[in-house]
This record gives sequence, structure tokens and C-alpha cells, in this order.
Amino acid sequence: MKIFDPHIHMTSRSTDDYEAMARAGILAIVEPAFWLGQPRTHVGSFVDYFNSLLGWERFRASQFGIRHFCTIGLNPKEANNPKLSEEVLAMLPRFLAKDGVVAVGEIGFDDQTDEEEACLHRQMELAAEFNLPVLIHTPHRDKKRGTIRTIEVVRRAGFPEERVLIDHNNEETLPIVLETKCWAGHTIYPNTKMDEQRMAALVKKYGTDRIIVNSAADWGISDPLKVPKTIAVMREQGIPDEQIQTIVWDNPVAFFAQSGRLDVAGLEQRPAIDRAQKFETNSVLRGDQR
Ligand SMILES: [Zn+2]
Repeated sequence: MKIFDPHIHMTSRSTDDYEAMARAGILAIVEPAFWLGQPRTHVGSFVDYFNSLLGWERFRASQFGIRHFCTIGLNPKEANNPKLSEEVLAMLPRFLAKDGVVAVGEIGFDDQTDEEEACLHRQMELAAEFNLPVLIHTPHRDKKRGTIRTIEVVRRAGFPEERVLIDHNNEETLPIVLETKCWAGHTIYPNTKMDEQRMAALVKKYGTDRIIVNSAADWGISDPLKVPKTIAVMREQGIPDEQIQTIVWDNPVAFFAQSGRLDVAGLEQRPAIDRAQKFETNSVLRGDQR
């Protein structure tokens, strides 16, 4: 089974995680830009973070045989700092032009403020300008209202729905998203949001069309192997491998291929691992191994 985890924050994860992910069959990942657990105070912190997603983290993933892509955007939480958000939005274009960027994201609602809505709308305009799809985060609180409001913003912006991935769905929001042409992401977490059993039940009920599964593993309690673990449960529940493959590979590949920046055929080949390689002056090796 080929596995693509389309939402995982590897900057916060260890080399053990990368090794376990490769062993479990994960070939490619998308790392969305998001917030770091505490607010940034300078636009330069965003510049360095975006550069690390495109540089060091991409290189680090390749050293474990995993292809790494990213999405770039201003996350909903930090959209609520008006001065900083202006500065971040102004410098986004130079990153959106880069090759490893396969969408604008993650953007969307957190507290569902007017500032968040304005940033969401403006970043959809930027996505249209750069011909990129968008990855949209839905809020933990009042998720149903946030999902409906998100769809309203997409429609008001005139952004093509088939280029929108609405993430972190649950039983309540999935049918709402499926009524549109947007794609529906599901985050499988250890304790909250969706779990493997509930996800398998959703696939049995709704099928595989535009359905995507991710781990969204980050600095909080989360599990970078949630996509392979969901595959195991879907198999136990009698979902055929062909359908599972659609969810964990074909769908995320088709969605992000809309960026024109995925070499779809090349994706199935692991990058060759040569740990003597360096990114600028640094490698993943330590001490005597160098
Ligand atoms: Zn995320």
C-alpha cells in the first residue's frame, strides 16, 4: 500500500518518527505551515519558518526516504494580530512562487473572527493568482458553523471548490462538505477529533470520493503513524484495499497535483538515502558518523 500523509508537522517530530513512518510505507507527506504553540512577534520569524519548511525539513525527510512538500500561509490563530498579519500577507507571494509549495495553507477559522475571515479571503485571492489549491483548517470549537462559514467564504471569493481541501472533518461536517465540490480531510488523533473506527464507519457510509485521511501530528499529543493505523482498521472492517488506496494515495495525490508541482510518477520512488549529503553545511549525522 502506497501512503501519502497530506497533513503532518514534521518540524516538531523526531528522526525516530521519520524512520517509523518510512517503515510503515509512507512515501510522501505535506507539511502545512501553522502556528508553533505560541504567537510569533516578528514577520522575520515567519520568513525563517517558511524557509525551513522548504529547506532543512525537506532535506531531513529525504534522508529517511520520504518526499516532503509544504503549504505556505498565515494560520488562523495568528491572523488575529492585525499588524503582523499585514506584514506576513505582504511577503507570502515570494514563497508561493517556490517549487516545493503545493497549496496555500493552512488557512481558515479558529475563533471565527472578522480578522480571520479577511485573511482567509485574501489568501484565497493569492491562491487564485498563483494557481494553487488551498488547505483549510476548520475550528475545534463550533466546528459546524465554522465549516458552513468557510464554504460561504469560498463561494464569495469565487474560488473553484475542486481546489479546496477542507480539513479536520467529523460526522457532522462531512455531509456538508460533500454537498460541495470541495475535498474532505479527516485528522485521526489519539484522543480527540476522529479515530480509526469512526473513520472506517464514515468510509462505509459515504464511500471514497474526495475523502482524505491525515495524522496532523505536531507538538501536541498526536501520532505520526495514524494513517497506517487507519489502514489496518479499515482492512479489519472489510473495506477493500483498492478503496483504501484511493483514500491514502490517489486522492491526496490528485488534490495536490492541481498545483502542477507534483511529479506524480516520481512520487512512487523513494529518494535515495545518502546521509553524507549536506544541506548547506549541515547533515543529519552526528559526531563520529560524519
Ligand atoms: Zn495542522
